[in-house]
Amino acid sequence: MKYLQTHPEKCIGCRTCEDVCSQLYFKEVSAEKSCIQVLDQAGGEFDLSVCNQCRTCVAECPTMALTVNKAGVVMLNKNLCIGCYACVAICPTGTMQTYHEGIVPFKCIACGACAKECPTAAIEIVTED
Ligand code: SF4
Ligand code: SF4
Repeated sequence: MKYLQTHPEKCIGCRTCEDVCSQLYFKEVSAEKSCIQVLDQAGGEFDLSVCNQCRTCVAECPTMALTVNKAGVVMLNKNLCIGCYACVAICPTGTMQTYHEGIVPFKCIACGACAKECPTAAIEIVTED
């Protein structure tokens, strides 16, 4: 399984990861449209919220729009998605993302683009059996 592992204790809150991800997905810089979310914590620290590829959502989808690819990454087929948000409701980490004018949700596909740009190595792509 391939997933984006977070090390929030290293995060400096620059939000480069959000910018990279939203640029890739939506061709614009928008925290709302990023698969990874940088969350402000008390004391000037940060938490990082992103899909861990747990697959809980896959069985919930009534149209089989969610599948697991060969790398173990949960993928959403936008053409099959009807926007019922069953996956959003069931996601245990709250990382099946939505944005206010969107119909279909979106999620991390473990592409690694954000990890390459993070200046402090607070995120990394990990592959496990
Ligand atoms: S790019 Fe790295 S340091 Fe910057 S906000 Fe994201 S995780 Fe934190
Ligand atoms: S790994 Fe790719 S899809 Fe996942 S948060 Fe980073 S840029 Fe977005």
